[in-house]
Amino acid sequence: KQAVYMFEEGNQNMREIIGGKGANLAEMTRIGLPVPEGFTVSTAACRDYYDNKQELSVKVKKELFSALEKLEAKTGKKLGTVNNPLFVSVRSGAVHSMPGMMDTVLNLGMNDETVEGMTKLTGNARFSYDSYRRFIQMFSDVVLGVENYFFERELTRTREAKGYTSDPEMTAEDWKELISKYKDIVLDHTGESFPVDPHRQLLLSIEAVFDSWNNDRARIYRRLNKIPHDLGTAVTIQSMVFGNMGDDSGTGVAFTRDPSSGESLLYGEYLINAQGEDVVAGTRTPQPIAALKEVMPDVFEQFSTTCQRLEKHYGDMQDIEFTVEKGKLYLLQTRNGKRTAQAAVKIAVDMKKDGVLSKEQALQRVNPDQLNQLLHRRIDEKYVRNSLVKGLPASPGAATGKVVFTADDAEQCAKNGEKVILVRPETTPDDIHGIIAAEAVVTSRGGMTSHAAVVARGMGKACICGCDGLKINLEDRQFSVNGDTINYFDTITIDGSTGEVFKGEVPMMEPELSGEFQELLTWADETRRMGVRSNADNPHDAAKSRDFGAEGIGLCRTEHMFMDPERVPIVQDMILADNQTDREKALEKLLPMQQEDFTGIFTEMAGLPVTIRLLDPPLHEFLPDKEELLVDITTLQLTTPEAPELKEKQKLLRKLRELDEFNPMLGHRGCRLGMTHPEIYEMQAKAIFYAAAHLAGQGNTVKPEVMIPLVGHVNELKAMRKVVDEAAALVQKETGREITYTVGTMIEVPRAALTADEIAEEADFFSFGTNDLTQTTFGYSRDDAESKFLSRYVDTEVLEANPFMQLDRKGVGKLVESGVQLGRKTKLQLKTGICGEHGGDPHSIQFCEQQGLDYVSCSPFRVPVARLAAAQAAI
Ligand code: ADP
Ligand code: MG
Ligand code: MG
Repeated sequence: KQAVYMFEEGNQNMREIIGGKGANLAEMTRIGLPVPEGFTVSTAACRDYYDNKQELSVKVKKELFSALEKLEAKTGKKLGTVNNPLFVSVRSGAVHSMPGMMDTVLNLGMNDETVEGMTKLTGNARFSYDSYRRFIQMFSDVVLGVENYFFERELTRTREAKGYTSDPEMTAEDWKELISKYKDIVLDHTGESFPVDPHRQLLLSIEAVFDSWNNDRARIYRRLNKIPHDLGTAVTIQSMVFGNMGDDSGTGVAFTRDPSSGESLLYGEYLINAQGEDVVAGTRTPQPIAALKEVMPDVFEQFSTTCQRLEKHYGDMQDIEFTVEKGKLYLLQTRNGKRTAQAAVKIAVDMKKDGVLSKEQALQRVNPDQLNQLLHRRIDEKYVRNSLVKGLPASPGAATGKVVFTADDAEQCAKNGEKVILVRPETTPDDIHGIIAAEAVVTSRGGMTSHAAVVARGMGKACICGCDGLKINLEDRQFSVNGDTINYFDTITIDGSTGEVFKGEVPMMEPELSGEFQELLTWADETRRMGVRSNADNPHDAAKSRDFGAEGIGLCRTEHMFMDPERVPIVQDMILADNQTDREKALEKLLPMQQEDFTGIFTEMAGLPVTIRLLDPPLHEFLPDKEELLVDITTLQLTTPEAPELKEKQKLLRKLRELDEFNPMLGHRGCRLGMTHPEIYEMQAKAIFYAAAHLAGQGNTVKPEVMIPLVGHVNELKAMRKVVDEAAALVQKETGREITYTVGTMIEVPRAALTADEIAEEADFFSFGTNDLTQTTFGYSRDDAESKFLSRYVDTEVLEANPFMQLDRKGVGKLVESGVQLGRKTKLQLKTGICGEHGGDPHSIQFCEQQGLDYVSCSPFRVPVARLAAAQAAI
């Protein structure tokens, strides 16, 4: 197979073979744009290089030198000759664009002789020696591993010794002098003199670019962007054009639209008398592209027409690199430009309206994960960031507030109208009220799927986790970070999208749900097959979900209703009851409260289906913390042993010990609770049906779907279904109202997925609870795995992704598949959905589409994401 392609031989569809940069240079050549001549060594040659102990094969070298000959023939120049020498750039370019991650060498071909040739050609010794020293600097850095710093230091010294303030003051003689010092630096650091043979320079540079595929930066970038590590990069060899030939030359970068707002206008920067790297290096401040109109009107005209042409040709916003050599424009790169979420949405919608894109194409232009940026307040883009410390970006959005250290303080302060940020070593389900009250949450331990993170994301609240640079002292109510101390009630700001914590207040921008955004989502709704529901536990979240376009509730967790501080004592009475009568008394008190909850939710959802999961967590979660209780008891015993609450607390402790489990995650929870305490499920079912009957009586449509958690055996579901059916019959009889409802189960343990045909006999619907299903399939405890080993697994690529964030298709996915297939074998019409965190993850949503699920359900703030992702999956 061919390893090297001249630009004339390629086109834009050959990214896989010659990389994005190579393919687009070829395409621009093909459509007649002014591109300096060149050729590209394929990604296959790179893979071959790695297979071949990092050596270029004879075949590749042969093709390379024959391509070089063609290039020399075309340009009439020759690499390494004194008369009319050829200079080239050696540029990296992978299939997926990885801007700035790999290496590039400019001005290759320079040595003591060719530099003279260039002087003769241009009549400009200053320029040719400047180009030469740039080459030594870049080549040494990229190929020989001598850091740029040593050269820059030498340059600064020379400049200072001569009393200059800027580079342009350097004369040809000065550059010459510096070059000889540069050569010494190379000799010092490598033990060898700088390679003078241009062919050798070329081979070494190509190898260095191949090597740069595997530098740390590139690896990290690929991991972050889920780009496979085995693709390899292509290398483009291109004849040089020089933007540093004088004031009629220059170089720049431009976007065909504003990449931050999406506005349709040319957006970019340029520098007069400079080489490519200067624009990004930040050593000189570039001019806005519009100013080029004044300086080089003809070039500007030609450039802006070309930009429009390229955008039209590619049907997407382009990011274009160009250089002007002595008044002549050259294009050096074009690619689809990276953009903010806001810009992505605006550009997609604008282009669809202009007829450039079809509806489906427009939908595919927006990355659903990015949409989250649009749903949260964020830090003003103009603010110059100076953060105290950085943790894991667990939930996006920005927030400012006063620091508090306990959930109770958070709640109390919020009641007094204060905006607070809850800072904790970690959070537990008990802190939920504090999380609700706080603007944002910061924890020093825990990962991206830790409790605080999951809860905060669910609420669309900013959150940073695992911020271990933050030393919390709960006793003194302060934390210290890099020598700074932040006290209780000091103001901080956090950015949940980057994980940064800032001191004091920082300027913010409100999210704007632009008209374009709404429009795009309407197109998504017309396109998708699956329904999108939300996970909502209260009327407020239900309302929010509907605002975001949810078509029902896929998971309403009833335990959050039990955790309301006013109800906790009654819930505790129920748990602590010694006998059936006492327990029923407590349940009787809870029933009207639950009924009220359901009435509120049903009302908000106005006739849309609501899936209610009966009580799931182990009962001890509703009792106080054992250690705290022990401390209380000991204190009481020492101070007031006759206090009546001592006995009560001791009783509580006994009960706590009774309920204690070695492994609560696999313990007495879910339907196992319902099996041993059917009266709890009975109460919940009655509350649902009373609420439904009452609303139906007022002429409302109500669609309750009762869901039994953690079923592993059909007999469990059978028994629990009976409890629900009996409650329904009773309420119907009592109220005289017919209630339509369904009963289904969560599929969240492997046995349920494997025996789904049996379970379907008793179920009207399945909802895949993929959080627990992932736990039980991998045998990972979700609460511990992340901080202990899971992040490491992901970092070292043992696992492709965190399976709690992205559904593991091979393992957990297989169980989902089996569940759907077996279930439908028994009941063709069985309704199926997913309600884990995965229901809001685009990659997992795509899998749900493939499995033919009827709907996905996710937290309210992810509903727009899911609407778009479901549409993309259906295209
Ligand atoms: P990156 O992928 O990091 O952007 P490039 O290969 O695009 O690296 O090179 C960086 C810059 O070097 C380009 O933007 C361009 O300005 C300059 N450059 C590359 N090749 C040439 C060339 N043949 N002639 C002039 N300048 C070049
Ligand atoms: Mg580039
Ligand atoms: Mg579960």
